[in-house]
Amino acid sequence: MEVIQKKIEELRKTLHEHNHLYYILDEPNITDFEFDQLINKLKSLEDKYPQFSDLNSPTQRVGGDVTKSFETLAHRFPMYSLLNTYSKEDLIQWRERLRKVLGEEVNIEYTCELKFDGASISLSYENGKLIQALTRGDGIKGDAITTNVKTIKTIPLKLQGDYPHLFEIRGEIILPWKGFHMINEQRALNGEALYRNPRNTASGSIKLQDSSLVAKRPLNCFLYSLKGDDLKVSTQFQALQKASEWGFKVPKSARLVSSIDAVFEYILAWEEKRKNLPYEIDGIVVKVNSLAQQEELGYTAKAPRWAMAYKYKAEQASTLLEGVQYQVGRTGAVTPVAKLFPVEISGTTVKRASLYNSDQIDKLGLRIGDTVFVEKGGEIIPKITGINLNNRGLLENQVQFLTHCPECFSFLKREEGEVQHYCKNEAACPPQQIGKIQHFVGRKAMNIDGLGAETIVLLFHEGILKNIADLYSLRKEQILLLDRMADKSVSNLLIGIEKSKEKSFSKVLFGLGIRFVGETVAKTLSKTFKSMDLLASASIEELILTDDVGDRIASSIIDFFADSKNKDLIRILKEQGLKMEQQHVQLNIHPAFKEKRFVISGVFEQFSRKALTDEIELLGGKIANSVSSKTDYVIAGNGMGPSKKIKAENLGVSVLTEQDFIDLSKR
Ligand code: AMP
Ligand code: ZN
Repeated sequence: MEVIQKKIEELRKTLHEHNHLYYILDEPNITDFEFDQLINKLKSLEDKYPQFSDLNSPTQRVGGDVTKSFETLAHRFPMYSLLNTYSKEDLIQWRERLRKVLGEEVNIEYTCELKFDGASISLSYENGKLIQALTRGDGIKGDAITTNVKTIKTIPLKLQGDYPHLFEIRGEIILPWKGFHMINEQRALNGEALYRNPRNTASGSIKLQDSSLVAKRPLNCFLYSLKGDDLKVSTQFQALQKASEWGFKVPKSARLVSSIDAVFEYILAWEEKRKNLPYEIDGIVVKVNSLAQQEELGYTAKAPRWAMAYKYKAEQASTLLEGVQYQVGRTGAVTPVAKLFPVEISGTTVKRASLYNSDQIDKLGLRIGDTVFVEKGGEIIPKITGINLNNRGLLENQVQFLTHCPECFSFLKREEGEVQHYCKNEAACPPQQIGKIQHFVGRKAMNIDGLGAETIVLLFHEGILKNIADLYSLRKEQILLLDRMADKSVSNLLIGIEKSKEKSFSKVLFGLGIRFVGETVAKTLSKTFKSMDLLASASIEELILTDDVGDRIASSIIDFFADSKNKDLIRILKEQGLKMEQQHVQLNIHPAFKEKRFVISGVFEQFSRKALTDEIELLGGKIANSVSSKTDYVIAGNGMGPSKKIKAENLGVSVLTEQDFIDLSKR
């Protein structure tokens, strides 16, 4: 037993170190695959020996616990807000006030930090272990979201070095742009309302009830403030350095400066640089560096006197709403877009702004002719944040959402529980037809080089390319008819189309663009049903029993295959030689099995030993006869020999049940 416990602790230590190397220092020294192997090993030991469980184990990162309602707890030290300003004059006045308190002759140093735009968090550590995470709440009390916070990889669960026995550290949980766009892409695909900005999404994410969903959100956390009774640091900058040594992700952008002019330089430099950051900041925080001086300065009712946030002006303008246009996407979703009188915002001319959906239009109560405020964040399309009430359009020009599709004139529908209106005329609504071809050709599906979005539009309007099946009967002369297409690029295009026939079944399935069937679901479906024919004939019950598939996805699949046009389409694609079956050998290699050595022992319920051996080899694993230190997994069936079992345990080899094996192979 002691051996096991030691092994578990060793694994945890190693994994904490790798986490730190990867997430904080950006210097991983093992591959993701090796990391996953270690995590899996630890996980299976922990499952098997629950007596050694630890709430701060690296395995807690994947979440799983569900919190119905978060406990509200008092902060040990209140969480203040920050004084803030948009002007340099205010900063100079602030310095004058500091001097009045501290003395004219006293030298004041400042730390300059970025003001991260996310959700603030206070983390408590005891004996180097994360014990609690509280949201800011009202500053006095916050919500305990500890389980959720543990899934954020940049937050250490276990510290290193000479950390104090008990302390708090504060920072900001943020969602980088990339993750924000990724989440929204998925939501768009699911017909769900899009999130407005990364900050709201970050705050919403950490309050989700299911921590395993939080684990899937690519959240990040920067820490910048220590609180405690005996911290052994005397300045803010030193606190940052210490926190970094203990394993926290501390912003490298922080600077120690010794004059207000240097503060201005920092502000100016980031005014431009912030546009290239992978996440959003809304300003700079300037803090008096000396903690003794901070104490002397104290707090107002709301904020410390020793800090000041300089906020960059939101890049906003006001202009005239000239009209509303409607865009129809691949799935038939209709998105309203504001047409604006062109206005300059931070160097670019803005003519359009996103209006998201009909609820948003109603909420704003928009009228054509209104003067609206337009803001440009990091989002690609600017947004309308409000209406200038002093300059309204006429009441009779109230914007009414369309009743019919602007492209094909069929009636629009908004389903119960959805925010988006849809044109249901999938088969004959041009933007949907074009969108489907573009999706099929796209990088994540068939990845056909040389066939750009614009070319598809041209070919569609020429009547040469009406659906994805037409791709495979395109002839060189037809494409050459288009202007701009050189002989060479047409040849490349045709080669690209030909090569797409080698793409896997799951890519073909994803490429079909069945509503709600994203990349992951397509993979699961192809693994489970193995072929298009079997999938097409699956019952709704069989579909619902599949991982990742719920009612909504299941009925969408049923509807798709019930449509005779889709059946024809699939028949043609099949005749053209596209892959309609899950390929065996090689293609099935599973990262958790690749090159791993398995020993199987005993008899199994769902597999004969031969079938189990075959399955492991298909997934890329190797079979050995006896347990040794090189063995990665033992699969234990009924009546497994006790000596094998003891040997495996002593060597710390993961012992899987038949069900564990099945779960692992599905992951
Ligand atoms: P406000 O919400 O405008 O009152 O600004 C105060 C908030 O800014 C704090 O509660 C923090 O969540 C956040 N903040 C972001 N970056 C920093 C930073 N570097 N130092 C202090 N607070 C920060
Ligand atoms: Zn339509």
